[in-house]
Amino acid sequence: MDATLQRRLIAAVARTVIEHTEELTALDQAIGDGDHGLNMKRGFQAVLDQIEDLAARPLPEAVGAIGRSLLMKVGGSSGPLYGTLFITLGKVLPTDPTGDDAARALGAAIEAVKQIGRSDVGQKTMLDVLAPAQGELAGGGVGLGERVQQRAAAAAEATIPMMATRGRAAFLKERSIGHMDPGARSSWLMIAAVCEELEG
Ligand code: ADP
Ligand code: MG
Repeated sequence: MDATLQRRLIAAVARTVIEHTEELTALDQAIGDGDHGLNMKRGFQAVLDQIEDLAARPLPEAVGAIGRSLLMKVGGSSGPLYGTLFITLGKVLPTDPTGDDAARALGAAIEAVKQIGRSDVGQKTMLDVLAPAQGELAGGGVGLGERVQQRAAAAAEATIPMMATRGRAAFLKERSIGHMDPGARSSWLMIAAVCEELEG
């Protein structure tokens, strides 16, 4: 992938997450311990600090390095989970991925997250956005970026009426109903940033 585009993609994802720190904090205050915003901000600030190096490396290496940064810096449950997601993406993505390559890599990364999290779709987590977005991406076709983004948005909204059965929110049982899952929101933010950058 062209280094300029790669730099723009990485910066867009990192900046979007950092800009939404307060929203992610508020969501995690409602059904968790309120640290998701600052956890993610810390991780993506570390990514921004290495942006020149990350832009210069082949895409799979850069994505793997992002994963290792998130693994080390984010903390909480989302650190190991997003760390695993990006590290697996880095292992499976080719240097210049097509949409199909990206769908395959995201599929493998989601399976790795499920294993680490002992979790699956339907439990009110990041997986409830990642999996539907991957499904849309795998379908291919015209207006793909826009459709993937819309699917991620709808999927994040759809976590509101769900009851959590994994993560901290699961302790709240029925009281977890009525709030968007913080990890679903951060996954939606990252997916939207990539789609918007690729369309522009
Ligand atoms: P913690 O819950 O340890 O405070 P964060 O607040 O940073 O960590 O992240 C919480 C998010 O992590 C949740 O909103 C959810 O999306 C995701 N999550 C938590 N546990 C799991 C799991 N087992 N599988 C998938 N995602 C999970
Ligand atoms: Mg938390």
